[in-house]
Amino acid sequence: MTPPADFASLFEQLPLGAYRSSIDGKPLRANAALVALNGYASEAEMLAIVNDIGTESYVDPARREEFLRLIARDRQVVRFVSEIYRHKTRERIWISEYAHVVVDDSGAPIYIEGTIEDITERRLAREQISASERRLRVLTEKSQSVTLICTVEGVILYATPSIERLLGCSAESVLGASLFDSMHEDDCAEHRLEFHSVSTGNNTGAESIARHRHADGSWRYLASFASDCRNDPAVGGMVVYWRDVTESQRASVSLKRVAQTDALTGLVNRSHFERLARAMLDVARVESACVALYFIDLDKFKWVNDSYGHLIGDQVLVETVNRLERALAADHLLARLGGDEFAVIAPVDLLASVEETAMRWVNALTEPIVVNDMSFHVSASVGVSVFPDDADSFETLLQHADHAMFAAKADRDHSFRRFEPEFSTQALSHARLATELYRAVKSKQFLLYFQPQIDSVTGRTVGLEALARWEHPTRGMVAPAEFIRVAEDQGLISELGDFLLDQALFAAALLRDRCSLVDGFRIAVNTSAHQLSHPSFVDRVMRALAKHELPASVLQIEVTESAFIEQAGRAQHAMAALRTAGISVALDDLGVGYSSLDYLRRLTIDAIKLDRDFVSGLPHKRVECAVVRSILLLAGELGIQVIAEGVETSEQAQWLVAHGCQTLQGYFLAVPAALDVTTEALRAEGIAALPKTANH
Ligand code: C2E
Ligand code: CA
Ligand code: CA
Repeated sequence: MTPPADFASLFEQLPLGAYRSSIDGKPLRANAALVALNGYASEAEMLAIVNDIGTESYVDPARREEFLRLIARDRQVVRFVSEIYRHKTRERIWISEYAHVVVDDSGAPIYIEGTIEDITERRLAREQISASERRLRVLTEKSQSVTLICTVEGVILYATPSIERLLGCSAESVLGASLFDSMHEDDCAEHRLEFHSVSTGNNTGAESIARHRHADGSWRYLASFASDCRNDPAVGGMVVYWRDVTESQRASVSLKRVAQTDALTGLVNRSHFERLARAMLDVARVESACVALYFIDLDKFKWVNDSYGHLIGDQVLVETVNRLERALAADHLLARLGGDEFAVIAPVDLLASVEETAMRWVNALTEPIVVNDMSFHVSASVGVSVFPDDADSFETLLQHADHAMFAAKADRDHSFRRFEPEFSTQALSHARLATELYRAVKSKQFLLYFQPQIDSVTGRTVGLEALARWEHPTRGMVAPAEFIRVAEDQGLISELGDFLLDQALFAAALLRDRCSLVDGFRIAVNTSAHQLSHPSFVDRVMRALAKHELPASVLQIEVTESAFIEQAGRAQHAMAALRTAGISVALDDLGVGYSSLDYLRRLTIDAIKLDRDFVSGLPHKRVECAVVRSILLLAGELGIQVIAEGVETSEQAQWLVAHGCQTLQGYFLAVPAALDVTTEALRAEGIAALPKTANH
C-alpha cells in the first residue's frame, strides 16, 4: 500500500530516512534519504537487494531482538538507537529510529513504518566529549594541580578533586572558603594584590608562589596562576590553577629569597618593593584609596660606616631595622632601598595621620644604638608623598617622597616633611648643584673668607676662621651652607678640604710675613667628619704645614659634634694625632642640643665654639644665660678655651666679657672678608692695635 497521495511528496522529500517494512523485516518502501543511507541509487535497486533487515542490517543481533520486543509490547519504538551496516557498503553507522506498527481493522499487525536518522557524527562527537571528560576527570584526580573557580573576592565556588592530593582536604570542604584561608599569612598580602590586579586587568598573569597549609599541618608551596573568566558563561568566575612545586621550591627558596630580600637586614629589596608597591597602587586606583610612600634616610650612618668600618656599620643598620620594624603597623611594608635608605608603603585612611606615622620611625631612632659598648646616634629624616594627591605613579611617588626627605634633611627643625611641589625644584637644583660642584672642585672655583676672632681683653685679633666661598661663574658668591653637604654626599669633600687647607695656610704664611701678628695667632679651618676619618688626613695636614713652612701651632682644626660623638673611631684617632703634632682642635657649634655638659670632660680638645643659638639668647633668656655660665665655668676648670660665635650686639659682647669669655667672633666685631681686606685690617690693627668693628 502506497502512502496517501497527499503525503507522497513529504515522504520523498523528508530529510530523514522513512520506510515501511513487513513485520518480519522485508523493506516495502524506502524514501530517498533512506535509500541514500543504505548506499543505493534508487528505491527499486534497494528493495531488490535488501531482504531481511533483521539479519542483514544489525551489527548486534541483540538490538534487533530488543527492537522486536518493544514493538510487540508497545507497538512502537521512540529514539531507538542501534548500530547498523550501511547495506551496500557494509560500513557501520549509528541510527536513531522511530517506528510503529500499523494494524488492520481487527487489530492485527500489517506492517511497520518509521523514520531513521543517521546519528553517527553526533554520536562520535558525544563520545569524544565524554571520553575527554573522563580523561580530564582521571587527570585532575591524579594531577598535581588543582583548578578552582572562585568569585572576584576569592571565595571558592568549585575545586577539582585533586585538591585532596595537594592539601589533604576534599573538594566539597573548601567550597565557600577563601582562596587565602590556607595561605601563609606572610604571603597573603602579596597574593591578594596579585589576584586583585588580575581581576582589574592589570596583571599579565605571571605565575607566583605561595605557601599553603596542608591538612597534616605541613606547608606546601603552590604555584598559582589566575585568569579572569567572569565573562565566559561556561565558567562565570575567576579561574585559579594551583600547582604543587614544593619539591623544586624547597631547593630554590633560598635563591628566591636572595633575589627578593636584602641579605643583611632580611627586608624586601628595592626591585621587589617596586613590584609590590605597584600592585598596591593598582588596587588603590580601583578602590579610590590613598597610599603613602615614606622615604627614610639615616642622617649619620655614612659617617658611622666611614669612621668605624662596615662591620660596625652593619650592626648599627640591623638594629636600626629592628627598631623601625617595631614601629611598623601590620599593613606597612618596609623595604631597604640600598645603603641607609629605606621605604615604607602603607594605605592611608586619614591624611592627618601621615605625620604621626612618620614620627614613629623618627622617634624609634632618637635613643642611641649601642654596638660593642659604643653608642651611635643615627637619626632619621623622613619624607612622604601620598597617592594620588602628590603623585599618581610609582616612579613619581618615590621621587617625591625622596624630595620631601631631602627637604626634611635640610630643615633643622623638622625630621619629617610631606611633599610640596617646590621640593622638586629644590631637588632639581640640588642635582644640578652636584654636577656643577664636581666641575668647580676640579677647576678650583673656591676661595676663603676670613673672620677675625677677637680677644675680649686686649681687643686684638688672635685668630681667623677660614670660611669657604664658592665663586660661582653665574650665581656669584655661594655660601657653604649650600654646598658643603653636597660635597660630602658626592665624596668631594676631601679634595675640596685639601684645597681649602692649602689656601688657609697660604694666607697664614702671607699674613705672618706682612702683618705683625699677636703671639699664638691661629688660623681655624673647618673640617667635616668625613675628612677627618680619612686615614691619610693627618699626614696631609702635616705636609701642607711643611709646604708653607708653618709651625703646627698656627693651625686650629674645627670639628663639629658628629666627629665627637664617640671616643673611639678613626676620627678620634685623627684628633689625638693632630693634638700630638701640636695642632689645636676646637669643637664647633656647641649648641642647645647638648644635654650633658659633663660630656666636655670626656673630650680631648683645646677649644669650644659656643654656637650662635646660645649667643643669640644672651643676655635675656634665662636658660641660655645659665647654660653659658656653666660652660664658661666648666671650660675654665678644664683649661678649654671658649670662643663665642655669632656675636651680633654689644649687649651680647658685654655679657660674654663680664662672664669671662675670652674670645669673641661675630658680625658685631667683624664680618668674614676676603684675604686682601683681612690683610689690610690686620696691618691697620698692627698700627692701631684696636678692635675692628663690623660695618655690615
Ligand atoms: P660655622 O663653622 O659655624 O661658621 C660660622 C658661620 O657663621 C659662618 O657662616 C659665618 O659667616 C657666620 N657668622 C659669623 N658671625 C656671625 C654673626 O654674627 N651672625 C650670624 N648670623 N652669622 C655669623 P658661613 O661662612 O656661611 O659658614 C657656614 C658653615 O659652613 C660653617 O659654620 C661651617 O660649618 C661650614 N663651613 C664653612 N667653611 C667650611 C670649610 O672650609 N670646610 C668645611 N668642612 N665646612 C665649612
Ligand atoms: Ca666653624
Ligand atoms: Ca660654628
